[in-house]
Amino acid sequence: MDFSPHDVSLKFRERYNINPLLVRAPGRINLIGEHTDYNNGFVMPAAINFGTYFAMAPADDGITEIFSLKYNEAFHVNLNDEIRPVKKPSWVNYLLGVIHQLKQQGTLKPFKCVFGGNIPIGSGLSSSASVECGFAFALNELNALNIDRQKLVLMAQWSEHNFVGVKCGIMDQFASMMSKKGNVILLDCRSLEYSYSPLQLLEYSLVLCDTKVKHALVDSDYNTRRQECERGVARLQKHDPKIKSLRDVDEALLWKHQPEFEGKEFDRCLYVVQEIERVQAANRDLKENNLKSFGARMFDTHRGLSELYQVSCKELDFFVSVAKQHPGVIGARMMGGGFGGCTINLVQKDVVATFVNALTESYRSSFGIEAAIYRVALEDGVNIISNKELRSVL
Ligand code: ADP
Ligand code: MG
Repeated sequence: MDFSPHDVSLKFRERYNINPLLVRAPGRINLIGEHTDYNNGFVMPAAINFGTYFAMAPADDGITEIFSLKYNEAFHVNLNDEIRPVKKPSWVNYLLGVIHQLKQQGTLKPFKCVFGGNIPIGSGLSSSASVECGFAFALNELNALNIDRQKLVLMAQWSEHNFVGVKCGIMDQFASMMSKKGNVILLDCRSLEYSYSPLQLLEYSLVLCDTKVKHALVDSDYNTRRQECERGVARLQKHDPKIKSLRDVDEALLWKHQPEFEGKEFDRCLYVVQEIERVQAANRDLKENNLKSFGARMFDTHRGLSELYQVSCKELDFFVSVAKQHPGVIGARMMGGGFGGCTINLVQKDVVATFVNALTESYRSSFGIEAAIYRVALEDGVNIISNKELRSVL
């Protein structure tokens, strides 16, 4: 079930009878640069018009309570205790890790919080990063800790690594926190240097097509891919100690040492090295307003993810092949960690309806599953929702 800022605000007033601070934390897309973040490469994310909304205020009774609208469940935490992950409910750990980090920066006042949103979970839009980032931002505001956004990004990622146990890269939290409306971010995951590029879609739209499947073992496969990349780096490091990650490797070097690789290591590394190069080329396309070339690279990324990195699945491959055959769809690829979730498609505006119909009908008849379609716009990163804005959406 989806919740709006208004739902969150209403629930907060109902439960606590006070006026809260309201914060919006967006989900994100990534135009190109998949599985490159934890290899110190480049990514090109942007925040979108789907988000998690937080209502928060100091607790008069000194009892800290967090209420999840999605799970219709409250959780109490004593901020004076040592903060540790809990077994249940699992949604709490995303937040507890953030509290753990913020407590090291200053004193946190007891608070009340209600949150919920409309990001489809596990579809590759990073609902988890939006939860961490929105919560970190709201607590920082409430306690006037003056922690800058980039530091909050690292705290949010720390929470996911250490309290949730997913060794994610930095992209998701960075995008949710740092995005600028109408722009994509070119983020260098090695230095955290970043720049914004306006995305001028002109006669095109960004359309996400959700397969609605999530195949099992996602986290363990994700961690296996990381390890395969690390083993590849270790092999090359023997020849050159300056190589710290796949960012420091080019394709020629990889081919030169191909015989030393075992199992799937070579294919995994080849994909990553090519993808890091592809993001930089795609950024040049954007600067030249060449969306057709940009879209062709998205198709190339999908092929690499499917054949070399092997994180696609039959549903995602089906979506991309439908897109490729449809006139007016100039780019498509799976987005996110893989094994399910969404494809991102660059579609000529006047064929969006026919493309969406063709895709949903053929998916229904071949797989018996109802796809979900999201048309996305690029929005600002985490921000405060003013009362005026809230009134205007009522
Ligand atoms: P995603 O790709 O969407 O980030 P994850 O599996 O990483 O998927 O994170 C999803 C988890 O984040 C959920 O299972 C839940 O624990 C938490 N979460 C996300 N959105 C919400 C929400 N609106 N309310 C409560 N928990 C949420
Ligand atoms: Mg996530």
